Amino acid sequence: MIVILKNGIKKEEIDSFTNYLERFGVEIHPIIGETQTILGLVGDTSKIDTAVISANHLVEKVMHVQEPFKMANRIFHPENTVVDVKGELIGGKKLAVIAGPCSVENYEQVLEIAKSIKKSGAGFLRGGAFKPRTSPYSFQGLGLEGLNILKEVKKETGLPIVTELMSIEMLDKFVDDVDMIQIGARNMSNFDLLKEVGKTKVPILLKRGMSSTIEEFLMSAEYIMSEGNENVILCERGIRTFENYTRNTLDLSAVPAIKKLSHLPIIVDPSHAAGMWWMVEPLSKAAVSAGTDGLMIEVHNDPANAKCDGQQSIKPDRFHELMRKLSKIAEIEEREI
Ligand code: PEP
Ligand code: MN
Repeated sequence: MIVILKNGIKKEEIDSFTNYLERFGVEIHPIIGETQTILGLVGDTSKIDTAVISANHLVEKVMHVQEPFKMANRIFHPENTVVDVKGELIGGKKLAVIAGPCSVENYEQVLEIAKSIKKSGAGFLRGGAFKPRTSPYSFQGLGLEGLNILKEVKKETGLPIVTELMSIEMLDKFVDDVDMIQIGARNMSNFDLLKEVGKTKVPILLKRGMSSTIEEFLMSAEYIMSEGNENVILCERGIRTFENYTRNTLDLSAVPAIKKLSHLPIIVDPSHAAGMWWMVEPLSKAAVSAGTDGLMIEVHNDPANAKCDGQQSIKPDRFHELMRKLSKIAEIEEREI
């Protein structure tokens, strides 16, 4: 429920009205504009009589939020959310580019890739230490050793690190060491995991589940936000459709749809969407044109021998060239890269 207050109401009056509303057992999220204040009510609003609230002399209008996601809803927060990840902003004018290998293989590999992507203008280093593989017989990641490699490379390059958390047991370690915690497509509906990361303040990169609707995707963001962590960045990474030429079908329409429905930043991962390295460039270009707030791209120095996802990884020189081209498209969109 949204309560729009009349213009020019004193702070004390807003505070006492907020206290009154809290007695209904809901949480109040005030959105304070220059002239107007809006109160977002989160929780079970079914016991609140809209007519009684509307009759209050402070109230201009009461609206029910139709969508099940509240805190992630743009109605609750009309301005775009900009998430600060160790000084790098996501959701503002500058596009966030996260690049790196699918998985951390060894220190030299990650360092070489990190140095080159940094030179090309990437703002974040990605690399999986704990890998969610379809087969239990595939490389599962280096685990804690991989996390340490990422930390070392961060020390060398200064690039903030983004890596996937699969289990609640590792959360404390991730809170200490990781700049942005990735929740992968396979865990988008792991609500216990979402609630736990929601209790931290670490920025969360939430990837869309492979068979999830946009509403389900935003409800997963709501799980994180409802626990107090509003630093959520969404990532469209392709969904399952009847088409099997590509690994997934990149749902680019999710970008403008989410921009309309939510204030949260949304980025695009063309690598996992297509599953083929030569599609990364056209899909990245299209994503920037569609209004993405950033890209997550798999880059590997030796894709033919990569332990994971080599077929969809581009080499550092191709990434460099891609960044050059994307900067021109970004300019048309009045963004920067
Ligand atoms: C990844 O980014 O390494 C990954 C496994 O992606 P997704 O969860 O989108 O499949
Ligand atoms: Mn991968």
